[in-house]
Amino acid sequence: MPPALITVRPEGLYCAAGNFYIDPWKPVDTALITHAHADHAYSGHAHYYATAISEGILRRRLGKDINLSGVAYGDPIKLGDTWISFHSAGHVLGSAQVRVEHKGEVWAISGDYKRDADPSCDPFEVVECDTFITESTFGLPIYRWDSGEVTAEQICQWWQGDPTRPSLLFCYSFGKSQRVLAELTKFTDKTVYLHGAVHNLTEIYREVGVKMLPTIPVSQMEKSYKFEGDLIISPPSGHRSSWMKRFKRPQTAFASGWMAVRGARRRRGYERGFVLSDHADWPGLIKTVEQTKAQTVYVTHGQNDVLSRYLSESMGIAASPLKTLFEGETDEGLAV
Ligand SMILES: [Zn+2]
Ligand SMILES: [Zn+2]
Repeated sequence: MPPALITVRPEGLYCAAGNFYIDPWKPVDTALITHAHADHAYSGHAHYYATAISEGILRRRLGKDINLSGVAYGDPIKLGDTWISFHSAGHVLGSAQVRVEHKGEVWAISGDYKRDADPSCDPFEVVECDTFITESTFGLPIYRWDSGEVTAEQICQWWQGDPTRPSLLFCYSFGKSQRVLAELTKFTDKTVYLHGAVHNLTEIYREVGVKMLPTIPVSQMEKSYKFEGDLIISPPSGHRSSWMKRFKRPQTAFASGWMAVRGARRRRGYERGFVLSDHADWPGLIKTVEQTKAQTVYVTHGQNDVLSRYLSESMGIAASPLKTLFEGETDEGLAV
């Protein structure tokens, strides 16, 4: 059997025919980055390739001077003996799947992706391939999402339901916060106040033309301002921090896919939980695998075993979990 086109090395997913890595977690020469979340975009690589639209966020997170080539969605580039291209993953601004073609064989590496509509980023594009490496963060049948619009309406009702208290919504600073700000434009035109970490990234979304509610950093408001009836968005790290003392008697909520798990909200100490994920839910994962028409599927980044068993047993696809160093185990040079 010839060696697989993509293999797992200690540095990350590796393509020998093109001599590059995808989302490597150790420094390498050539790194293709699917998106700017910290578990995919590490610093220290000699040369980065990523989508042009993610350039602003990558430079903010990894440094202004990284050696980065921005590539438009769908534009093929030749690396070694391979053709590679980035295709929208619908996960966050600039997120991409990587398509790798070598001697007529096509692999697609999903990165993180979702199938639900999101006004803050490009929609998911189906990439037909022979072999698909899929994430599986929410790869259990219990995970099924409402649309972002339905959840945003719930957030709006919660926020505007108490005009006497500040409403503190906690969610990830990159992607989720901007999705909420974009979805909320369907229900209100009020100003939202932002934690500094959310503000910085929201500015980058505005620069590329994403329409969101007007926002002001919390730090720009007078000390005497009480935020009564206001929505404030903060990353989860702001919860129970000294920053929170700025708000008197706030109502608190967390927006995340994890809020679908019974008890998760209470354990984390939030009054409300909104189920809102930037990953595919169970039906979204299954649909995507079907649409790629892949005969071979490797499942990584989450609930590997359950999804790969389902794909093999119920759908007759050659599926197996892909163990990577990132998830704690691998053999050097192991063919995936
Ligand atoms: Zn991500
Ligand atoms: Zn991820």
